[in-house]
Amino acid sequence: MERLTDISNIRDILSRYGFTFSKALGQNFLINPSVCPRMAEAAVTGGLSDASVGVLEIGPGIGVLTKELLQRAEKVVAVELDKRLLPVLSETLSAYDNLKVINADILELDLHQLIAEEFGGMEVAVCANLPYYITSPVIMKLLEDKLPVRSITVMVQKEAAVRLCAEPGTRDSSAITAAVRYYCDPELLFHVSAGSFMPAPKVDSAVIQLRLHEPTVHPKDEKTFFKVIKGAFAQRRKTVLNSLSSSLSLDKQKMRDILKTAGVEESARAERLTLGDFSNIADALCETE
Ligand code: SAM
Repeated sequence: MERLTDISNIRDILSRYGFTFSKALGQNFLINPSVCPRMAEAAVTGGLSDASVGVLEIGPGIGVLTKELLQRAEKVVAVELDKRLLPVLSETLSAYDNLKVINADILELDLHQLIAEEFGGMEVAVCANLPYYITSPVIMKLLEDKLPVRSITVMVQKEAAVRLCAEPGTRDSSAITAAVRYYCDPELLFHVSAGSFMPAPKVDSAVIQLRLHEPTVHPKDEKTFFKVIKGAFAQRRKTVLNSLSSSLSLDKQKMRDILKTAGVEESARAERLTLGDFSNIADALCETE
């Protein structure tokens, strides 16, 4: 098979299968040949362990990243929602016997079960050029489900990459920054220009890697912890006192007492708070309930 990133090859494959791009499914296929090897290298050999690695890929498209993953990993399971791409993948990846393609919506799958059934005994990494319309829900599902995966290496829009990898306490931080930091160490690996895709999206992209770790703070109740994070950022220009009392529907004096117990300045903005601050507020809130 000729190079899968060559525009003429892609056009030939797609026209033979009568395929047209779906904007709704976020179909922007990679045509820059240097991107996929770098992503696959970071995902598969980026860890320190030399154990065999299984990769869960989301949205293989015509298989350009999948091929690089297959050359490096013990096994790749690729979940593709668009069933029109299944015969294409059978052709483009016919040389590999360590691939399983599943036709499903990644957001609907039981990923614990999938990992247990498909990757027994392997270390697992997630790798994807994510469909941008589901970037946050996919990342939050991967993290909140507490899957036994060591890292998540994904292409996302540049603005999302900045938010996901922001340092807590800085202007770029948001609710998802705090959630990501709770579960992992994020790193922005490299930037990718809009012209690296077909069709070219309107914005540039970046590849980030989230390396999972044990949480560094230990709130008594995780649900309350995340409720506090979302509530604090709901009106990020307001003080944490105003934003939290309105989003948690709590009397202002009660909220003031909770912040005092937590040792957090009531005039602070959410973007200035650390994970420890959110955890302390959540614990103080639990004590009053
Ligand atoms: N990996 C290919 C590449 O880099 O050229 C394609 C990436 S394209 C940005 C996103 C892919 O995700 C498409 O193939 C699309 O059909 C698929 N997709 C969209 N929504 C999905 C979902 N909910 N579950 C699984 N795959 C999805």
